[in-house]
Amino acid sequence: MDILESPEAMRAWRAGCPGAVGLIPTMGFLHEGHLSLVAASRRQDTHTIASIFVNPTQFGPGEDFERYPRDEDRDLRLLRDAGVDAVYLPPPSAVYPPGFQTYVTVEEVTRRLEGEARPGHFRGVATIVLKLFNATTPTRAYFGRKDAQQLRVIRRMVRDLDLGLEIVPCAIVREPDGLAMSSRNVYLSPEDRAAAPVIRKSLLASKAAWDSGTRDADALRTLAIRGITAQSRANLEYVSLADDDTLDELYGFVSGPALLSTVVRFGHTRLLDNIELG
Ligand code: AMP
Repeated sequence: MDILESPEAMRAWRAGCPGAVGLIPTMGFLHEGHLSLVAASRRQDTHTIASIFVNPTQFGPGEDFERYPRDEDRDLRLLRDAGVDAVYLPPPSAVYPPGFQTYVTVEEVTRRLEGEARPGHFRGVATIVLKLFNATTPTRAYFGRKDAQQLRVIRRMVRDLDLGLEIVPCAIVREPDGLAMSSRNVYLSPEDRAAAPVIRKSLLASKAAWDSGTRDADALRTLAIRGITAQSRANLEYVSLADDDTLDELYGFVSGPALLSTVVRFGHTRLLDNIELG
């Protein structure tokens, strides 16, 4: 497994790859969710590149950039064992050299939900992802459905900027009790960790109502809200039921595919989860 630390080195490595190349962008501190993306690429691409970069421009002031969990040695071991061919591991100075001033803004689809809660977040995400695409020119790039809005933002950017690569969405990998795997789960106190599966359970209550014919947007949202707020350790930030593609909030009768998503805080830790309806 090769480790490349500059865009130039990454591009030179990439130039020697015939056949399909898959890219898995990550911020490291890897878990089974990340490794499922690697496995998906290994099934269909000739070469698999993973990137590890904790991207400062997608963190707001007062967020957890400095204390974001990092363990490079363990990550590299996991990626090697998973059969990754190359890891792109640039230092921040190689990604954002002095004088850097160009950013990508995706408009409507970033206005609500995480875009509203974290101003500037998706500008940082779109910019770093485009830069990773430019350094690796992948045939396919793999993204988890856990970050549902991020996936839609990237898809939009790829279409709008004619990037000509395939975005492959991957299922959410969960702990046995249903909590979506996340690098940030290590922040949870034992008590909060024990309470956190309420998120998944509450989204499933809504999904069960959908499956038995409930189509009223408020009723579907309310079921999830009730479940989450019944857990006293949980601080609900939002529950959204939105059009699956545009992420416009839905009201009244829901006909098409919809995304039920939520952010719940336990202590200072924001946990995201979602479920697709229809
Ligand atoms: P991150 O390192 O948190 O930036 O995540 C890197 C990629 O892994 C993103 O595409 C995430 O959506 C994806 N990912 C994170 N957690 C999971 C999970 N539990 N299941 C599937 N994919 C995930």
